[in-house]
Amino acid sequence: TYVVTENCIKCKYMDCVEVCPVDCFYEGENMLVIHPDECIDCGVCEPECPAEAIKPDAEPGLEQWLKINADMAKSWPNI
Ligand code: SF4
Repeated sequence: TYVVTENCIKCKYMDCVEVCPVDCFYEGENMLVIHPDECIDCGVCEPECPAEAIKPDAEPGLEQWLKINADMAKSWPNI
């Protein structure tokens, strides 16, 4: 799965949302997250983010952001 990280906070350019083929972005007040069970790992969103906030979960050190994406995707609205 892909993960939205801290560079998204207070940014929300939304370019990623436009390209995601499975609409797995969810929106909170300050940032977006990706639902880990819905993301199909296509990678299309990563280069679209002007803030470079989206990363593959294979990158080391993303455990905290993985949990935030998973938790918030359950409580925030799908966009
Ligand atoms: Fe959507 Fe693909 Fe990005 Fe996953 S990797 S959030 S499926 S655009």
